Amino acid sequence: MHRHDASTEILTQAVIRYAVDRVRLDPPPLDGPHTVDDLRAMAGHTITERGIGGLEALRVFGDVLAPACISVDHPRFLSFVPAAPTEAAILFDLVVGASSVYAGSWMEGAGAVFAENEALRWIADLAGLPAEAGGVFVSGGTAGNLSALIAARWKWRHDAGGSHDRTRGLMIASSGAHSSVAQAGRAMDADVVTVPADADGRMHGEQLRATVAALEPADRERVFAVVATSGTTNVGVIDDLTGAADVADDLGVWFHVDGAYGGAALAAPSVRDKFVGVERADSFIVDPHKWLFAPFDCCALLYRDPRVAKAAHTQQAEYLDVLHDDDDWNPSDYAHHLSRRARGLPLWFSLATHGTQAYSDAVETTLRVAHEGAELIRASEHCELVVDPELSIVMFRRLGWTAAQYHEWSDAQLAAEESFVVATSWHGETVLRICLVNPLTTVDDIAAIVESLR
Ligand SMILES: *Cc1c(COP(=O)(O)O)cnc(C)c1O
Repeated sequence: MHRHDASTEILTQAVIRYAVDRVRLDPPPLDGPHTVDDLRAMAGHTITERGIGGLEALRVFGDVLAPACISVDHPRFLSFVPAAPTEAAILFDLVVGASSVYAGSWMEGAGAVFAENEALRWIADLAGLPAEAGGVFVSGGTAGNLSALIAARWKWRHDAGGSHDRTRGLMIASSGAHSSVAQAGRAMDADVVTVPADADGRMHGEQLRATVAALEPADRERVFAVVATSGTTNVGVIDDLTGAADVADDLGVWFHVDGAYGGAALAAPSVRDKFVGVERADSFIVDPHKWLFAPFDCCALLYRDPRVAKAAHTQQAEYLDVLHDDDDWNPSDYAHHLSRRARGLPLWFSLATHGTQAYSDAVETTLRVAHEGAELIRASEHCELVVDPELSIVMFRRLGWTAAQYHEWSDAQLAAEESFVVATSWHGETVLRICLVNPLTTVDDIAAIVESLR
């Protein structure tokens, strides 16, 4: 099983061929889900005592399983947050898998960790974080937010010298914040107080200040973090980061910025000024698997002062003691995890291959297509913009449609493999939302979708 023989060689060719062919598909089929019963009937028994052989397993994957997964990188996959990994990043993901790197510690993974940190440094520089800033790539924004907020609470308790060790913490976030912030609160058994966002879903400093002022004094003592979002997931607006940083300063608490989706636009000069204030963050996240063209799963988590994160997250165990002898950079110390894949390497390789200018250009392209698409919707008779797009999310309504009509249209589009666009809700109304992160999506793609809504 672990030997490389003639059959492994045949399998190697087949697997590499499959991967390269998939990367080359332009576009890939959109595909779509099947029921468990259908998949069972089509895939047959794959886990058997003797094995079905690699070529047969690959055939089942290619013929049955892969077509039952929607291609997130299809240019008309515009639901949720799509992905658009570069060819270089995807190909290097194969290399990362083949290299058996343990990227939790410097001792074991120094070379990989060094390269990951180069990519993190690029992001830290885009955000304007200081030279000492650093962090780690974690699985996604959910893990990034949780790890950052655990560090925030650790600092609050530490600074209180023990007096808050049994106090339930409280964080303040916008009503437009991602669901993972509330989820972090549940996981940490901490409270989340919500600041009402404005009509476009943006949190302003004054509202945040009013929310803080309305807290009971005992609750104000419990605040350990202010969370702002730089690119809300539903509509893509950026909170007033300077206002939020000011309030965090006044309270003397941690300032976390969730840029899982929108943080990538720091690379786009045309919108960079919307992010002013992010440089004051104590922690910041961005998901390269969203809009920085890396494959799943990849979230860059950065701390202004990584020592706090290290104090909060380092695991102590006898068998790990040899790793804590010196000042080595151990990625496992900076999040709620231990073993880890060098998941930042595909981003590093692609950045090294193409250079950062290509990233800026690609993000600018998606911004331009989103804005031109929005103009097209504005000019149409049957559709209407709900919010002017700030980044690359366009929210709009088909005039006169009920929720059922939206769902019917969306299902039919996917079944015909035309597009994948699902409805969302906005102030209680069912509307459509398209999210662009793929530079291969064109204005014509959006035009076709708008046309199909007639
Ligand atoms: C997508 C998103 C998350 C969650 O990221 P995952 O990678 O899906 O865990 C968190 N915050 C924001 C703003 C997001 O857009």
